[in-house]
Amino acid sequence: MTTSLLKFGFDNTYARDLDGFYVLWQGEDFPNPEVLCVNMALANDLGLDTNALRTQAGADVLSGKATADGATPLAMAYAGHQFGGFSAQLGDGRAMLLGEILDAQGQRFDLHLKGSGRTPFSRGGDGKAVLGPVLREYLMGEAMHALEVPTTRALAAVTTGEQVMREGIKQGAVLARVASSHLRVGTFQFFAARQEWARVRQLADYAIARHYPELLAVEDKYLAFLSAVAYRQAALVAKWLQIGFVHGVMNTDNMAISGETIDYGPCAFVDTYDAGAVFSSIDRNGRYAFGNQPAIAQWNLTRLAEALLPLIDEKDSDNAVRLATDELNRFTDHYTEVWTAGMRAKIGLRGAEDGDVDLINHLFTAMEGEGVDYTQFFRRLADAVGGSDNSAKALFADQTKCVAWLAEWRARIARDPQDAAARIAMMNAVNPIYIPRNHHVQEALDTAEAGDMALFETLLGVLADPYNKREGLEKYEGPAPDTFGPYQTFCGT
Ligand code: AMP
Ligand code: MG
Repeated sequence: MTTSLLKFGFDNTYARDLDGFYVLWQGEDFPNPEVLCVNMALANDLGLDTNALRTQAGADVLSGKATADGATPLAMAYAGHQFGGFSAQLGDGRAMLLGEILDAQGQRFDLHLKGSGRTPFSRGGDGKAVLGPVLREYLMGEAMHALEVPTTRALAAVTTGEQVMREGIKQGAVLARVASSHLRVGTFQFFAARQEWARVRQLADYAIARHYPELLAVEDKYLAFLSAVAYRQAALVAKWLQIGFVHGVMNTDNMAISGETIDYGPCAFVDTYDAGAVFSSIDRNGRYAFGNQPAIAQWNLTRLAEALLPLIDEKDSDNAVRLATDELNRFTDHYTEVWTAGMRAKIGLRGAEDGDVDLINHLFTAMEGEGVDYTQFFRRLADAVGGSDNSAKALFADQTKCVAWLAEWRARIARDPQDAAARIAMMNAVNPIYIPRNHHVQEALDTAEAGDMALFETLLGVLADPYNKREGLEKYEGPAPDTFGPYQTFCGT
């Protein structure tokens, strides 16, 4: 059941080139798929007919019930370390890759469904997704995109007409998502764990061609591939820390080779700066705490390196380990470099001095335990450029900590010539004023589940332009009221 208007122009390299890496599959025959929202901007970028996506045929295709012309729906195989423990077989247990589409620039994207029913990888699960988590992923992905963080994006959210059992009865839903690809660290681990080295090599060649084509001609291309993935992850996690994002479930199956943020399950943004911030109900030991994310990225990259060792040096495994270890050891330098560059911009520095890392670290020391709203602090630091320190100081429980740091910062910006207006503009262009605050996200999801999409749509609109202050949006600027209490998130089920 398709319509001629629903033209995706699929070109499915994964299905074509990687036989044995997936199971061809079909979505569930849902009782009543209905399109709840379509990402018009993204659909337009992809050259899709937005009206056609909103038809019944669109709903059927976007839920997985019907197959669009040219699609090769399949469930991808992958493994992964979850909270440090290895599962040799995870895979798309409730998801399907429909195929790949190209945008006007010829950039390739996966079109993927999450919640489209059971697959051979479902293990004990029901293969379903429910509305709240689907809309959370939609909202967070769009917020991250607007914040210029590499990310998968929602194309549409569809309700299925089914009731799904979770902690209570929930509405079934499917997220149609677009990603540079769904290759994960765990995809490599799946074949490495089976010692299927020819397949690991085939996968690496595919990943290089798709995401790092500049490495095709490099002699040590698998080592260079590891290095390139590490660099993108360093840049990604540095961004997360600069905006206060906690992914929440950085398992190796949730780390994309492309360097995009993927799988918004229990993620959240911090209000108060706290390196130990954890929101996920299942992260009891704080493995994926806010400040622990760079170390976990490096840990995950070490698992990728292990899967690539026989490719790095086929004959001499000691040499392979030595080369990979050197590469992994460089992660901290990569990370510090990109993080420092980003932080310099946040505090209004155009130039670079050796002491900047200390200056930035002193800020974090000053903020720790002071209840400082992380997002508001950097916007208010721009006020201090013009000489008014009070708004920044007011965020600290003990204002002397802020005063001492501002003095250190002032001495530094005096050596970084820029007029005040230019410095303020530069800071406000990288320091968001609107982020997905947990209390707003929760309220938008709760009301959407009750059938009213208005708050969700409003919040999407606010988050689409995070850097420009707009009249009437004051309530989106601040942290949750105390009455909101500590926030807890649950895995995307
Ligand atoms: P996630 O926590 O969403 O990253 O998923 C981890 C693994 O569990 C993946 O292999 C998923 O496909 C699988 N999974 C999660 N939820 C379900 C579900 N409701 N039914 C089947 N498999 C699931
Ligand atoms: Mg996942």
